[in-house]
Amino acid sequence: MDLHILPLEKFKPRINDESELTFGKQFTDRMFVMSYKAGQGWHDARVQPYQPFSLDPAAMVLHYAQEIFEGLKAFRRPDGQIALFRPIDNFRRFNHSARRMCMPEVDEDFMLHALKELIRLESDWVPRSEGTSLYIRPAMIASEPMLGVRPAEEYLCYIIVCPVGAYYKGGLAPVKIWISDHYVRAADGGTGEVKTGGNYAASLYAAREAAEKGYDQVLWLDAKERKYVEEVGSMNLCFVCDGKLVTSPLHGTILDGITRRSVLELARYNGLAVEERALSVDEIFAGVEDGSITEAFGTGTAVVISPVGQFTYQDRTVVIGDGKTTGKVTQELYDTLTGIQYGHLPDPHGWVDLL
Ligand SMILES: *Cc1c(COP(=O)(O)O)cnc(C)c1O
Repeated sequence: MDLHILPLEKFKPRINDESELTFGKQFTDRMFVMSYKAGQGWHDARVQPYQPFSLDPAAMVLHYAQEIFEGLKAFRRPDGQIALFRPIDNFRRFNHSARRMCMPEVDEDFMLHALKELIRLESDWVPRSEGTSLYIRPAMIASEPMLGVRPAEEYLCYIIVCPVGAYYKGGLAPVKIWISDHYVRAADGGTGEVKTGGNYAASLYAAREAAEKGYDQVLWLDAKERKYVEEVGSMNLCFVCDGKLVTSPLHGTILDGITRRSVLELARYNGLAVEERALSVDEIFAGVEDGSITEAFGTGTAVVISPVGQFTYQDRTVVIGDGKTTGKVTQELYDTLTGIQYGHLPDPHGWVDLL
């Protein structure tokens, strides 16, 4: 398929002071879009000016939430080059999500090619200061206007990009996590491992309750026994337990995070034992209290690694360390991963894809 580059007539004002960058509010001048129709397949792939879509009010995504997305980043390196981090893994996961949601698959290599073209055109938007990056949001929506419940026959697939500020302005800062004993995120057989908007819509109520109680994030437990740790908001969760890295296994209810995968690979590479196994709330509380669990952290593209300072479940709270200091393993993994992403460290795993 050909990729058409449409002319751009107007440039948007830029944020010159990179310390003022936020997350996901200011998008660049251009976007990638392609259309799909049953019988015709994907067509009309183009990089065009960033602009609103015109959607029929009956567009199926607006009613039945047939939607998927991805999230990845481009990093500016010291020599000025731009690097993507494991981008093909994102497009593979995009297709995994598409299959589960009865949406058409995309050509992964073409998507990567289109993304690189978009970023080349928008390269001035990739920020330069420490900790900043260009956040990339591929998405697919069902655009067919029809109120019957069945997979749509028309879709839009698009990529928008936005410069984002450093997540941690003054070094890593541990978060407070509320463990939900009432709400669940995903049950066996559901869509927990799919990156789809509906999972997020369903999570907002508990997240708001947690925020009102002064917590940063919700930790979800398994839907069946309400005992085992699943994941946090938009992060997978890891524990340092008896000197090993322990995280929940992938069995369909949690997202197969690329940051999670990278952290596990880094740990193994550095000789740290890794266990993917069910971990109960009781085990976390007992482990933190008896000192066998020394660190906990979340992993996800937006934050990279987010240390956890405390967990609260019902009326009990455990504090990890002093609740304010980032653990040694957490800090090392963060430094290594970001070092590879920004090009300060070598990339022995072949994760970096230069533009
Ligand atoms: C995207 C996401 C993650 C993190 O995945 P990464 O590939 O590491 O960014 C974790 N949990 C959920 C629910 C997500 O949507």
